Amino acid sequence: MKELLRKLPKVELHLHLDGSLRAKTVKELAAEQGIELPAEMIEDLKSHLQVNSNWSSSLEEYLQKFELPVKIMQSKKAISRVAYELVEDVASENVRYLELRFAPLLLTAELSKEEVVETVLAALQRAEEDYGVQSRVILCCMRNQDPAQSTKVAQLALDYLTEGVVALDLAGDEANFPPEEHEQAFCLAKGGGLHRTVHAGEAAGVESVRKAIDFLQAQRIGHGIRAGEDEETLEIIKEKEIALEVCPSSNVHTGVVDSLGEHPIKEYYQEGVPVTVNTDNRTVSNTTLTEEYLKLQQRLDFSLADIKELILNGVKAAFISKEEQEELLEEFKAEFAALD
Ligand SMILES: [Zn+2]
Repeated sequence: MKELLRKLPKVELHLHLDGSLRAKTVKELAAEQGIELPAEMIEDLKSHLQVNSNWSSSLEEYLQKFELPVKIMQSKKAISRVAYELVEDVASENVRYLELRFAPLLLTAELSKEEVVETVLAALQRAEEDYGVQSRVILCCMRNQDPAQSTKVAQLALDYLTEGVVALDLAGDEANFPPEEHEQAFCLAKGGGLHRTVHAGEAAGVESVRKAIDFLQAQRIGHGIRAGEDEETLEIIKEKEIALEVCPSSNVHTGVVDSLGEHPIKEYYQEGVPVTVNTDNRTVSNTTLTEEYLKLQQRLDFSLADIKELILNGVKAAFISKEEQEELLEEFKAEFAALD
């Protein structure tokens, strides 16, 4: 089953660059930059970068895993390398369309925010030529940053709208910073033709999901797994086809669900909520998209047909034109049939 899942063409819509660095790369980049590491051996370093197997904690603690990666991602060389390698990683499990996200303002210790975005876009372009993975970029505003910073990120995203940046996101500490403070940035994004996705319903309840839709005009919700706490919100999500970017392992790691067996994704799927499956952070959660689908099959009884449906949900929720979606849908369906 695992090999079949690996071979299926897939899309990934919710993937953080800084949560998905290879440990070996962290070690090499740190050495080049003279940055001291908490561990020298790759295996020990890995345990600093990822949550351990019985981890169940809060989003706040999960977010601490990003400190070291962000520290070493402050040069063009480092950013370019980690972005390129991530595409290489997703290509190895036949991800064919990728939306990669990061918070540009966290990477500006030495570079300008424009240089950061241009470096990522150039690396993705190179990787697309080498591996055939279509990639787009989502820029993240951080909840704990001043809302004026979010407006800057929205403007930055608009400046690169025709070069591969497709959307604005709001990430970070959901429990302590509500979404509505960033309304201006998301209005600007919408007005300029950018798509919007918002992390919500992860560390805070359904009211946070509702605000993401009402104030930030979210077209997709990052996680959104607590949306089911309110029937009306769930109805709005279905009616407006607001896709949930579900990241099953990550949801266990941030303590939103106690175990995968208790994850509501199956209920949502059966009720017709547009759910998609993603990894969130390949290194922090020590996972791949293949692993996530395998876990859904093993723990929540998703059939192969269901998994194909989930993959197609991802294509339909991708921030590309209807024509591009149609093209991918046809391609994927033909390949699904060939793999039967
Ligand atoms: Zn996320």
